[in-house]
Amino acid sequence: MVLTELSSIDMNNSNINKDIDNSKSENLDWNLVQVEMKNKLGLDIYESWLKKITFIEEFNSYILLSVPTRFIRDWITSRYLDQILQVIKNYRKEIIRIEFKIIEKRNDDKKNSSEPQENEKGENISFIKDSYLQYNRIDPNKRFDNFVTSSSNKLAYEASLKVSENISYYNPLYVYGGVGMGKTHLLNSIGLQLKKNNKVMFISAERFMYQFVKSIKSNDMVKFKEYFRNTDILLIDDIQFMNGKEAMQEEFFHTFNALLDKGSQIIVSADRAPNKLSRIQERIKSRFSGGLVVDIQKPDYELRKKIVANKTAELTNLYSGEIRIPNDLQELISLEIKTSVRELVGAVNRVVSFSRIYNKIPSLSETKIVLKDLLNLTENKVTIDLIQTTVCKFFKISKNEMLSSRRSRYLVRPRQTAIYLTKILTSKSLPEIGREFSNRDHTTIIHSVKTIEKLKEINPEMVDNINKLKDQILYNNKVNEI
Ligand code: ADP
Ligand code: MG
Repeated sequence: MVLTELSSIDMNNSNINKDIDNSKSENLDWNLVQVEMKNKLGLDIYESWLKKITFIEEFNSYILLSVPTRFIRDWITSRYLDQILQVIKNYRKEIIRIEFKIIEKRNDDKKNSSEPQENEKGENISFIKDSYLQYNRIDPNKRFDNFVTSSSNKLAYEASLKVSENISYYNPLYVYGGVGMGKTHLLNSIGLQLKKNNKVMFISAERFMYQFVKSIKSNDMVKFKEYFRNTDILLIDDIQFMNGKEAMQEEFFHTFNALLDKGSQIIVSADRAPNKLSRIQERIKSRFSGGLVVDIQKPDYELRKKIVANKTAELTNLYSGEIRIPNDLQELISLEIKTSVRELVGAVNRVVSFSRIYNKIPSLSETKIVLKDLLNLTENKVTIDLIQTTVCKFFKISKNEMLSSRRSRYLVRPRQTAIYLTKILTSKSLPEIGREFSNRDHTTIIHSVKTIEKLKEINPEMVDNINKLKDQILYNNKVNEI
């Protein structure tokens, strides 16, 4: 299918660009980007939308991707574009923009081309009905008994346990916290517990919206309503993704009320508190706040340590005692990886994979390499100050000179270079960068970035300098961190 898709692109055009662009070392590994998007936005969003993105080509400052329909493009651009760009920037700092090309499958009739999901799965209209079930999957491995607790998540855990023992005790229950903190795990545990005696529906808000739109398109609203209003327990994951779309919120609100009226239990998760949800109707937020609202905080050291120990024990068991992660490595992971439980578990998995591949336990420094990106993520210490200092040293000018308004050539280039590096190495906005460079206007910042981009194309020395500076900034950064 990919081949058919690509064949419809204007290849001549792309080739010309490729020639100009062949200074680029290697192609962006789209598979890596996809894996990261999956981690960042969750399996559900990935499967529904992001998986359908095909990489076409990258250019100096933007990247060309394709999707099969306009609908998918609009959906993706209105919801996930920033996050996708962020992921791509991890691999290509220079990319500042994403362009989508719509490449429909050829020889499709109209109906098919507007419903690509079904084609890919070889399913037909009855997919809509099946799909509620299809996405109502409860993972048998995410249970209460393997949910580790500490003060950072105890409240959420206890409330969830209570609800699964005593329906409608807290109704609705609203659990919130950052990415990878265990919200889905908790909702799943509740579902697992309650499905023994109840009709349980576990769905992400993303899926809910998707089904909603699809059932409107196929005139299947009645079934949609019936289905959702018939459940005893409705678990909706990541409610923050339910935004906009008035008609759908309307439907959700009615479903929500109908369920509460008949005594069904509703459990919702989100990445933020109810009052912080954007583009969700006030009355829905207020119903969320009317139940019990509990948050999961970042894992504290106690929790991190327990989780690393548990996971290590589990893996040691799995590999019949062949692999043991020594205490100092467990300590490094528990101390350094503070962002989320998901990353913590990921770190343990990586160290174990290393051991299996190389048939030895990694040393402390090898572990740091294996976990480099996770350790970097914990604290991104690339500051504007670090960039300015490094660039000044490199060009042998003083910081006062760099920040002054003098326009001598020997000052202008370093200044522009520092501005360019700030743009690509930090997530600061143009006005923020302007402020840090003696209150320069954001148009000056854009001009500097563009100038350096152009110079990089024609001047190998510039490329070399930028690479050296990047190394120094990132290297210093790493040294500070370890
Ligand atoms: P969220 O939904 O908040 O983004 P998840 O529930 O998907 O996070 O958790 C990410 C991973 O971390 C999952 O593999 C989950 O099983 C695990 N996890 C999270 N919190 C805990 C915990 N307290 N104990 C054990 N595993 C956890
Ligand atoms: Mg989740």
